[in-house]
Amino acid sequence: MNNKSIIFKNFTVITPEENRVITYENHHVAVEQGIIQYSGVDLSAAKQSIKDPNPDIYDGQYRILMPCFVNSHTHLAMTLLRNRADDVPLHQWLYDHIFPVEERMGTREFNTGTLLGIAEMIKNGIGVCANMYMTTEDAMDSQTAIDTGIKLNTVFVGGYKNPMTGKYVLDEKTFDRLHNIYHNSGNQRIKCGLLVHSIYLYDKDFYYTLAQFAMSRKTFIHMHISETQLEVLDCVRQYGARPPVVLESMGIFDSPVIAAHCVHLDDQDREILQKKQVTVVHNPSSNMKLGSGFADIKKILDAGINLALGTDGTASNNNLDIFQEMRFASYLAKGIYMDPTVVSVGDIIRAATVNGMRGLGYLNSGQIKTGMDADLQVIDTHNPSMSPVGNYQAAVVYSGSSSCVESLMVSGQMLMRKRELLTIDEEKAIFEAKESSASLYKSDKSL
Ligand SMILES: [Zn+2]
Repeated sequence: MNNKSIIFKNFTVITPEENRVITYENHHVAVEQGIIQYSGVDLSAAKQSIKDPNPDIYDGQYRILMPCFVNSHTHLAMTLLRNRADDVPLHQWLYDHIFPVEERMGTREFNTGTLLGIAEMIKNGIGVCANMYMTTEDAMDSQTAIDTGIKLNTVFVGGYKNPMTGKYVLDEKTFDRLHNIYHNSGNQRIKCGLLVHSIYLYDKDFYYTLAQFAMSRKTFIHMHISETQLEVLDCVRQYGARPPVVLESMGIFDSPVIAAHCVHLDDQDREILQKKQVTVVHNPSSNMKLGSGFADIKKILDAGINLALGTDGTASNNNLDIFQEMRFASYLAKGIYMDPTVVSVGDIIRAATVNGMRGLGYLNSGQIKTGMDADLQVIDTHNPSMSPVGNYQAAVVYSGSSSCVESLMVSGQMLMRKRELLTIDEEKAIFEAKESSASLYKSDKSL
C-alpha cells in the first residue's frame, strides 16, 4: 500500500462547489489517512494539518489538482470485445455480436477484461466507476477493484432465466451472499446494488419483483433507460407508456437509480426522473456510434436532474476516456442548439466528477476541501496541447487528454504516479487480456 501522507504543494486547484466550479491558484492540499486534511494558501497550516513530519511533497508547478473523474456507466470486461463489432445497429450489435460472445466468457475472461479496463481508466484520470456486468458467483469486479484501489459501484443480477419455463426467477440467496461479502468492502470503496438491465429484457412481473427486492434490501439499481427510439416505441406498444412512466409505476424508482443513456426523453419523463432523484448518465460516444442519437443535456440540466458522464463499454465506444465524453457532451449540446452558452465548462466538470460521485453513493467525494476523501488527479499542463494554459477549466475540458493525466489517487492511495501504474502490472494486464480475447474469438465458429 502506497498510503503515505502527502502535500500537493503550489497547485492550481479546480474543485466543484455548490452549483459552480472554482479555480484556486497557489494552493496546498494535505492528505493523510485517505482524507484531505487541508486545502488553502498557507503551507505551514498544510504541514500542521497532518501528523507525519516527513510527508511526500508533490510539486505543483504547471500542474492542476482536481477530483478524479467518475465513469458513471461502463461494462469493464467488455475490453475483450473491443473493436470486434462496429458499424452495426444496437439491437443487432447486442443480440448477434455481444450476447453470444459474453456467453462464452468465464472467470478468467471476466478478470482479465476487468483488470485491463481498470488500468485504462486509471491512465485516463478515472478513479471511480459504476460497472454493470453479469457478476454472479465470482464477484470478480469487486475483488479486482479491492486489489487495484479504485472505487467501484457494481451490481449483481437479481435472478436468472429458468431454462424450463423461460421465465426469470429471483435468486435472493446469491445476491445476499455477494452483497454481504462485498458491499462497503475495501474500506467502503465498493458499493453493491441490483442490476436491472432494461425495460426490454424481462417479463412484466419480474420488474415488480426486482423493485420490491431492491426496496427490501435498501439498495440501489443500475439500468439502461430509453437508449433507442425502438426501445421507447416497443415499451409504448407493450405497456402503453414510455419507459420512465412504466418504471415509475412498477416501483423501480422507489430505490436510488443510476440510469444510463436517457437519449429519448420527453418533458414528462424528465419530470419523473427529477422527482425520483434518478442520476442520468450521458454516454455520448456510445450513443452516437450505435446511431441511437444523444441525450439532450440542456433540457436534463434545466430540469434539475443530476447529470453524470459515462463511457459505456469498450465494445460500443471503443475506449474508457472521459475527456472524449466531456468534449462530445459539450459540443453536441452547443451544436444542436446552435448556442455556445447552453452548457458551460463548469457543467461538464461537475458531470464528470461530483455529480457522478453523488449518483454512485460516494457522498464524501468529488470536491477538494477539508474532510473529503482524497480522490484526486494531477494534470500536467506543461505540454504542447495545453500550452499556453489560459483558463484552467477550459484547458481541462477543451484541450486536455488522458496523456496529460500524470498521477491519480483514490482514498489517499496513489494508483498512478508520473504515468506509472502502482497497483497493476500494466504489461501483464495487456498481455493476459489479449490472450483471453483471442481465445474467446477463436472458439467462435460463427465469426
Ligand atoms: Zn451500457
